[in-house]
Amino acid sequence: MRALSDSIAVVGLGVSGLAVARYIYKHQGMIPISMSVYDSADNDRLRLLALELAEAGADVHLGAETVDGRFRVAVVSPGIMPKSPLRRSVQQAADRVIGEIEFAFERSVSPWLAVTGTNGKTTVTSLCVHLLTSAGVPAEAVGNIGVPPITLVDEVGPSTALVAEVSSFQLALTDAFRPRVAVLLNITPDHIDWHGSFQAYAADKAKLFANMGPDDCAVIDIDDSGSAPLADTVAARGVRVMRVSRVGLPMGGAGLVDGWLTLDTPAGPIRVLKASSLKIRGDHNVSNALAATAAVHSWGIDIDAIARGLLGFEPIKHRLEPVGVNDGVEYINDSKATNPGATIMALTAFGDRPVVLMLGGRNKDNSFAELALHVRDSVKSVVLFGEAAPDIAAALSDAGVAYQSCGTMLQALECATHSAVDGGTVLLSPACASFDEFEGYSHRGDVFRAAVAELRQVGSR
Ligand code: ADP
Repeated sequence: MRALSDSIAVVGLGVSGLAVARYIYKHQGMIPISMSVYDSADNDRLRLLALELAEAGADVHLGAETVDGRFRVAVVSPGIMPKSPLRRSVQQAADRVIGEIEFAFERSVSPWLAVTGTNGKTTVTSLCVHLLTSAGVPAEAVGNIGVPPITLVDEVGPSTALVAEVSSFQLALTDAFRPRVAVLLNITPDHIDWHGSFQAYAADKAKLFANMGPDDCAVIDIDDSGSAPLADTVAARGVRVMRVSRVGLPMGGAGLVDGWLTLDTPAGPIRVLKASSLKIRGDHNVSNALAATAAVHSWGIDIDAIARGLLGFEPIKHRLEPVGVNDGVEYINDSKATNPGATIMALTAFGDRPVVLMLGGRNKDNSFAELALHVRDSVKSVVLFGEAAPDIAAALSDAGVAYQSCGTMLQALECATHSAVDGGTVLLSPACASFDEFEGYSHRGDVFRAAVAELRQVGSR
């Protein structure tokens, strides 16, 4: 475990930055350190926190455009854009620039299981925690899922697994991070605005495996063309790799055989569970279940316990979450699908049911061309909303797909309800961020769920 450095800058006072600052002042009795805290914003919430931190001895700078001075370490919030002046000045001011994940990892005595990918991180993180705990292994979900791991490192010991959902932003701020098991689900274009290019984004994802050795296990989905090449690269470095695929059974990995989630073990292939028994829907969730199965199996969980755990796992909020049935139409909240890749996967969950798809929000510099082809092949009709509607409309027109533009998300729900047919589905899987209209994807999903509940009360169709 690393000692605290004598001078630390905490840059960005979001949830994880604040947790780091509190950890530092809680421990600074042991080691005399100086802590400076920076945030580019200045508002009531931050001023209150500034008082707390200043009282604990920190030098607090709100409304900061740059970081001045000299620091051994800077712990930077993953939300700060690399090209921003604040972030650039940190690079000059600190010998070492890391994020909260690295900071927590260095101070943790627990084994780590880390999960990354463009899509599916929260699902697989939650599923791994569920499979471990239901098999009797203490495990905590941390990271991007909402709990900064630094808040737990003093609480949990070596017998508790820290299962970390790790974003590309967080990985960009690691250097010695070494999980015992690491899962890579997929790499499809997303967050290009933050990373600068797809190559830079993929390189940051690959940092997950950078420090792993022969005693560690990498679980890699080889059906995805972005993540597949890493299986060979990581194996060539001597790391054990468990490949995961829905189109066969990779040697020593996990796959789908005759509809069964199957593990290839030294004793031969072993069936774990029929994929149709999973409560989470869609091809992507079969991939997610396979990845989690491989990860916890490599952790030492036996196959019967994995099967029991998989059977008991329920859909997570805002991810293909059924939110009600009105006049024979099911309504599905997939508000967390904030990029085209996620929506393409969501479309695999409905078989022959006629789907009315709600698309829109704020584009994150993504192309909708490939999504438009999938929409043409598997959707009954499309309703558009929000800021990105013209971009999506252009891609749909190029693919020869008809659509309706409906203004806001709630207006689009109304249009979708009118277009839906008995036995069909209205699917909010927007392929865009929500910030043009909402505080975040969960706010958008909550508004959708509440509106569907109201529809059901008034029976408005
Ligand atoms: P993340 O935490 O990476 O954003 P989630 O588990 O919250 O991922 O799922 C977000 C959305 O991504 C889901 O609603 C679904 O549409 C899509 N998705 C989930 N798993 C996968 C996967 N393995 N491959 C592609 N898309 C997926």
